[in-house]
Amino acid sequence: MKIVVLKFGGTSVGTIEKIKKVTDIIIEHKKKKNKVIVVSSAMSGVTNDLIKKSKQISNNFIDSEYDVLVSSGEQVACSLIAGGLNHKGFKSRSWLGWQIPIFTNGPYTNSRIQQVNKNKLLRFLKEGGIPIIAGFQGVNMNERVTTIGRGGSDASAIMIAKSFKAQRCIIYTDVEGVYTTDPNKLKKAKKIKVISYEEMLEMASLGAKVMQPVSIQDARLNRINIEVKSSFIKKPGTLITKRTNLNNNRIITGISSTHNDAKVTLVGVKDRPGVAASIFKPLSINSINVDMVVQNISPNGKETDLTFTIKAEDLNKTKKIIQDNKSIKFKKVLFQKGVSKISIIGVGMITTPGVTFRMFQALANKKINIQVISTSEIKISVLINKKDAKKALATLHKEFKLQE
Ligand code: ADP
Ligand code: ASP
Ligand code: MG
Repeated sequence: MKIVVLKFGGTSVGTIEKIKKVTDIIIEHKKKKNKVIVVSSAMSGVTNDLIKKSKQISNNFIDSEYDVLVSSGEQVACSLIAGGLNHKGFKSRSWLGWQIPIFTNGPYTNSRIQQVNKNKLLRFLKEGGIPIIAGFQGVNMNERVTTIGRGGSDASAIMIAKSFKAQRCIIYTDVEGVYTTDPNKLKKAKKIKVISYEEMLEMASLGAKVMQPVSIQDARLNRINIEVKSSFIKKPGTLITKRTNLNNNRIITGISSTHNDAKVTLVGVKDRPGVAASIFKPLSINSINVDMVVQNISPNGKETDLTFTIKAEDLNKTKKIIQDNKSIKFKKVLFQKGVSKISIIGVGMITTPGVTFRMFQALANKKINIQVISTSEIKISVLINKKDAKKALATLHKEFKLQE
């Protein structure tokens, strides 16, 4: 059976007009004699609104009910698509996570898909039906509704493609594919034809919203090729695949940026074994994600400075945790909002010397100050003042000839 999985993001189902357009795309695939499985997100903005409502009830809204609440957006979109297909004469119905079921494990709000039961869906497909599956949701061992993290419908689509051994998995979105950088931030961004899982994972983790990082991990593990394309414009998109399928000699593949970071610096921290652990343990217990970490060498062996970055929205919580933490001694603590992280990504940098220098020199030429640096095999990230972010993005995009 030739199965095609089509995923539509919130931006593709954001209005009734767009949902009608989506049903046409689905019908086009169906007419090619494919068995079509659809995964949909909530209409754009709906999940954010639901989250806002939970906050109006409580800043500590209980996680299990949060999942019931925020997963409801997908239900609306799926029923509208299925209803639209019925209206056009096609057999279709919506499927919620618990009806399939899609089993998840892990904590509420951030579960992972473990297993997708195929029986009922296979029967429906064989009857010629088009299932419209609610992305982003599942059910756990306690028969409670779960969600799998923001942007999670991408991961739903990948895990469904894996379970059904689908021939194609297409992620329809509001841009034509994966670009060298966010095309809504830099007009000169160019569409990338093929990108490796590794590069896409770094780009996504470092701020490229177009694909959710977990979905790329799942696709890499299960060797699922992903096609990202526009639901509005009929043009070839981007293929996300394994590295050996790539044939190019680019050094840098893309640039990602984040704009809602904050920097914390502890000055004069007692330099003894275990100090870093006692700083980060309470942050980890409170689910605060620490990103870049830099510890200075201590000139006298007694004291050191430690800097790390977090999401700006976690700043108040972090301030309180640090101030309440009696197990660490330091002279003062500095908090800074308004910083951005700019990252260049590319497998080409493994074999090309001088990339770091080129990046730093290009930023220096534009008088952009680097506050923190972190690197991995295929990426270099710098933390800079947010007001310089746009300039830095354009400068690096040009320096590494990404617009050519
Ligand atoms: P969907 O609703 O389809 O899930 P998202 O809003 O999650 O769509 O992701 C699409 C958005 O990702 C685009 O509108 C674009 O602004 C943003 N984006 C960020 N980085 C990139 C990139 N490198 N390539 C393409 N889009 C990107
Ligand atoms: N609706 C969910 C969100 O906005 C999931 C998704 O869009 O993929 O995060
Ligand atoms: Mg998305």
